[in-house]
Amino acid sequence: MDKGTHYNKEFDRRYAYEGCDLGCTCTPDRAVFKLWSPEAARVELFLYRDGDAPAYASRVLEQEEQGIWALTLEGDCHGVYYDYEVTVAGNTARTADPYASACGCNGARSMAVDLSRTDPEGFEEDAAPPLPPENIIYELHVKDFSHHPDSGVPEELRGRFKAFAWRDQAGRPPLCMEHLKGLGVTHVQLLPIYDFGSVDETGDGGQFNWGYDPMNYNVPEGSYSTDPCDGAVRIRECKEMIQALHRSGLRVVMDVVYNHTYAADSWLERSAPGYYYRRWADGTLSNGSGCGNDIAAGRAMVDNYILHSVLYWAREYHIDGFRFDLMGLLTVELMNRIQWALDAVFGKGEKLIYGEPWRAADSPMEPGTISAMKDSAPRLDPRIGMFCDTTRDAIKGDCFHCEQPGFVNGGSGLGETVLCAVSGWMGGVGDFKPLACSQIVNYVSAHDNYTLWDKLALCSPGPGGALAYEGSRADLLAQNKLAAFIYFTCQGNLFLQAGEEFGRTKLGDHNSYRSPPEVNRLDWHRAWTFGGLTDYYRQLIRLRKSLPGLCDKRPEAGRRIVKANVHRDGVVSFQVEEGGPCGERLFVAYNATSHDYAIQLPSGRWTIRADGVNADQHEPLIAHGNWVTVHPRSGMLLMQLERPGA
Ligand code: CA
Repeated sequence: MDKGTHYNKEFDRRYAYEGCDLGCTCTPDRAVFKLWSPEAARVELFLYRDGDAPAYASRVLEQEEQGIWALTLEGDCHGVYYDYEVTVAGNTARTADPYASACGCNGARSMAVDLSRTDPEGFEEDAAPPLPPENIIYELHVKDFSHHPDSGVPEELRGRFKAFAWRDQAGRPPLCMEHLKGLGVTHVQLLPIYDFGSVDETGDGGQFNWGYDPMNYNVPEGSYSTDPCDGAVRIRECKEMIQALHRSGLRVVMDVVYNHTYAADSWLERSAPGYYYRRWADGTLSNGSGCGNDIAAGRAMVDNYILHSVLYWAREYHIDGFRFDLMGLLTVELMNRIQWALDAVFGKGEKLIYGEPWRAADSPMEPGTISAMKDSAPRLDPRIGMFCDTTRDAIKGDCFHCEQPGFVNGGSGLGETVLCAVSGWMGGVGDFKPLACSQIVNYVSAHDNYTLWDKLALCSPGPGGALAYEGSRADLLAQNKLAAFIYFTCQGNLFLQAGEEFGRTKLGDHNSYRSPPEVNRLDWHRAWTFGGLTDYYRQLIRLRKSLPGLCDKRPEAGRRIVKANVHRDGVVSFQVEEGGPCGERLFVAYNATSHDYAIQLPSGRWTIRADGVNADQHEPLIAHGNWVTVHPRSGMLLMQLERPGA
């Protein structure tokens, strides 16, 4: 077994290739094929008319410097399918091109594609909407979005890229798209849209997977297209989706899974055996991903691969941000390099970067590298965000122990923790010492674990232990609203799982990665029955965007949070220095108890902007001595437009 021990700095110095032309570069005149395979003795290219037919031609590639094998074919090769036969140490393997930008059905063969021929109409003018005052990210799965019959999308397009771009004869978008646009979120984060392996692209629409099993990193997934066999179709339809989201005023974040592949026997492995994966000293593959293999971030060509892939999606598909799955398996050096490269190419702050600052298990990092875990925050660029599990669990309870409550649903002793979350953990907690709240992604639900509604239902069973997954219940609604109110008044980036705004349920399924679409999809009928909750989220979203003190991402923004106070278990308040010409101030209180709680405000005139029922009001507070009553399981936000005596 090749333990890969010779893949060290010396190897990288000799073979690392810095060019960004690996794969197939195809124009009307010629196609240039380039593969990095430093230890190959021979590389042969096979050409096909489609994804199934036998090869009609083959050519041996020329070896160049730095492990590169190259070949130029004259003429128009757009639409030609290809793969390679790579011979290393006497073993010959057939492989698709790990650097391919197109592929046939199920990604088994690559395709030469002239990318200029895949742009939908108007794509050259496509641009992201202007940078918003706050990043409010909506996590969405392509199939979940439109699979439900009430989505408003014609049946043949449900669950596909095309659902986003479809318009009726009057030019109106489907109901699901209207909902998304009307909510006011600023970014849509799409669960994996690159080509993944767990769904058979020739199979029926009853299949489902989240898609955290990459096959071809630089190609869109075929099962979301109307024709997975024509490599150009999935590219065009993916671009149409992004264009439609941009036209609806939404930025698009891509969920990228560079930490592992579908199988260790991947195109990367076959083209450079042993190089791209981590192994322990005894030669076994490491499994920090929990998915059977870890990509060896920290090696030069692994890092180049990831960086160039990110830049490719940003440039070719106009992707506006990247969410890194298990970022803790990648390195601080790589994450900073990606942020700085995106800044250099697209302008500082234009592309949003964040990820999961953890991993499923230990993994042998390359010598001299630092993993991008939570405790690495001070070494990461201050703008690289991290999902904040501490905020999440403080608000609604532990995500693994379903019966354990958080602040909003009966947990006790959590007031101080919730107040730390408010100022983006600027004081630090344990080894977690963020540089600025731009490093924080606040959330209470994501695709992993229980939906917020299911978690709340599990923590508060009804009479006889009944779990209110499907119906509504006033106490759960209040808890849900308070949970949203809290993270919408915390400094940092904001994130919600699609459907959280209408009490999304998966009927208690906490790991639905391959559950049927009927469990996973957004139920647009429920969106209607929970319309009041959606209205409340819509109001919170609009309110948040109007509050500069909470949106501030500078390192000193934490100083805007003052007079944080735990009044009693379950009741906290704080003030926010909004700045502005009149020195506006906010007073925010959370009451998680089941009783009214009266709080005296500082002197001056206050206006109620939000409570547990309505987050879009401008009611002057008329009360003796500035006492305000915060109702059970609800929040309250008041604004003081000018200070007394100012
Ligand atoms: Ca696929």
